[in-house]
Formats: sequence, structure tokens, C-alpha cells
Amino acid sequence: MLSLTTLLEFHFKLPTIMPGTVLALTLLMVFALLSTVESHAPREKWALKHLRLSYKTNISLFIINSIAMSLVSTSSLLILAERYSAKGLLNTISSPAWKAVLSFLLLDLFMYLWHKASHSADCLWMFHRVHHNDPYLNISTSFRIHFLELLITHILKALLVIVFGIEAAMVLTNEAVMTLFIMFHHTNIAFKGEKFLGYFIIVPALHRTHHSTQRSDHDSNYGAVLSLWDRLFGTLVELEPAEIGIKGSSPQDLLNLIKFGFTLHTPPSAPAINLDAMIAEAAYYKAEKRGFSPGNDLRDWLEAKSEIIALVYGDMSVKNNPTCKPQHNYFKFINLNINHKSIRDFEGGVHC
Ligand SMILES: [Zn+2]
Repeated sequence: MLSLTTLLEFHFKLPTIMPGTVLALTLLMVFALLSTVESHAPREKWALKHLRLSYKTNISLFIINSIAMSLVSTSSLLILAERYSAKGLLNTISSPAWKAVLSFLLLDLFMYLWHKASHSADCLWMFHRVHHNDPYLNISTSFRIHFLELLITHILKALLVIVFGIEAAMVLTNEAVMTLFIMFHHTNIAFKGEKFLGYFIIVPALHRTHHSTQRSDHDSNYGAVLSLWDRLFGTLVELEPAEIGIKGSSPQDLLNLIKFGFTLHTPPSAPAINLDAMIAEAAYYKAEKRGFSPGNDLRDWLEAKSEIIALVYGDMSVKNNPTCKPQHNYFKFINLNINHKSIRDFEGGVHC
């Protein structure tokens, strides 16, 4: 994602490739165009006061991030690209066209993997959920990014640029293309042919699923430009989310949003585990299911005991076993009584 400082660097570093002013104006015009389209024909109609709050918070964050990122401009991708482009792995390829295609694919794949990691690790999710907690998904949401997430992305991209020797022109082109696509897939619109287009690129419908409050839905569609990576790695999900944003406390004003991005969310303290009570509850449930027919009490108790112990002490295969759905929906009750292993499980709910 481009920052204001990067846009300025376009002008000073590579004036012969594309004047920074023209590129900055192009991105601004695309933003204005998509913003106008979504306000006239929104996919989901948000109340004006909510939309205003979202724009205000997201644009403020964008400005703060741009100012903060100017502090690391000396290690910018462009300088590194100019210095290392002749030394990286891609330098073995003689065709400039293939080099350009591979550079683009590498950077897009990196964005996919990095995004996936931001959903998997709790410490990275702490930053990334700032982006996800906008319940009024719109084009300005694309600029709602935690500064540290932006900084880490920048550092990792810099390593990629050094290792593969990606040329400055490709870095800039990719940044520009990525910014356009990120703005596009956050836009609150629906259009004819969107599903077909989704076979190739990440469209608003696919990214909307990614902003669902449900973890099973939002751990999907990680792509930035191409939907190829999600198809390849089996993370593509096509469904209309019931709700957008983050479950529970979700501050929308700038100050609290910044605080939110530095708070590792912990679930409310769970009551102490009473294994005997849980086993008794589970055994009772089993007995009830078979109409309290006599002679099976001990078997019910032993089965309940092994399942509860496996559930509480970590054999999640019992919980995740598809057969648990019809037979053991008492897990839903029991899950309320155990400490969840991950903050994400708590936020996304448990799907048994
Ligand atoms: Zn995400």
C-alpha cells in the first residue's frame, strides 16, 4: 500500500519512468471515482453518520501513517531496489518481460503469505485487526492499517527486493497496481460479471467475505491482486457474510482505535473448570439421547469422560470430528466453560 511519502519518492527517484505527480493524481482520481460509485450505488447501505465516521478515522490514520513512514524513508524500497537489482536471484533471467512478470508474481505471493500470517499469529493479528474492525466496509477501509503492520510489511518487502533483486520500476509498478486493487476490492459495490472476474482477481465480493466477523469466513481470500493464490492454497471462500467487522468491543474513533491496535485481546476470565460437572452433564446428555434406557450408564460415563478430557486438555480432533455435530452438540455448552487457546477462537466463536 502506498503512503504519501512513497508517492513523493516517485517524483524524486524515478522521474523518467512515471512522474510522481501524475501517478498520485491518478490514484486520487480512482479513489474519488470509486468513492462516488459506492456512495451512489452501494452494495450495503450504511447510515451517513457511520460512513462519515469511518472515512474520518481511516483517512486520519492514513495521514498519521504517511508521516510516520517518512521516518524510515532512507531504507525505502526504491533505494534498495536501485542498489541490489543487479545482484538478486532474478538477475539470472535475461528476458526483461519474464523478469517483470516474475517480480509481480513474487510480490503478490508475498502479500498473500504475509496476510495469511497476520491472521494466524495472535501478535500479528493484534495489529491486523485494526484493519478488520471497520464495520462499515468501504473504499477508505483500505487505508485503515496499523502503523507497525505497515512498517513490518515494508521491511519484509525490502528483504524480498534484496534477495530477488527486483528492479525499482517493478517495485513502483507493483505498489501502484496493488494500491489500485486494494482500493477496488474494499469498495462497497456489486456489479455484473463480478463472479467471473473473481476467477482471476480479488473482487469486492470476495474481500467482503474476508471482512466477516466469523473467523471461519475471515480466514480466507487473503489475496491482494490475484485470486490464484487462494485457489492454489485452498483458502478461497465465496459467501455473503452475515456481519462485517470484529466481534465484541470495536472502537471506531481514532484515539481508541490506536489503543486497540496495541492491546492483545484476552477473553473475559472463564469460570474454573469443574471436570466432574462437565462429564456428568455430557453423560446425562448421552443418556437423554437414548431415552434413558437402562444398562448403559457406565458406558455413557466412560465415553463422556474420555471426550471431555480430550476436549479440555487439547485433543481438538475430538472437537473437530465432523461426527460431533449430530451426536455431541453439548460441546457448545461445554465450550463456554473452558479457556480458549487463542484469542481468535474467542473472537470468531467455536464451530463445532
Ligand atoms: Zn485480513
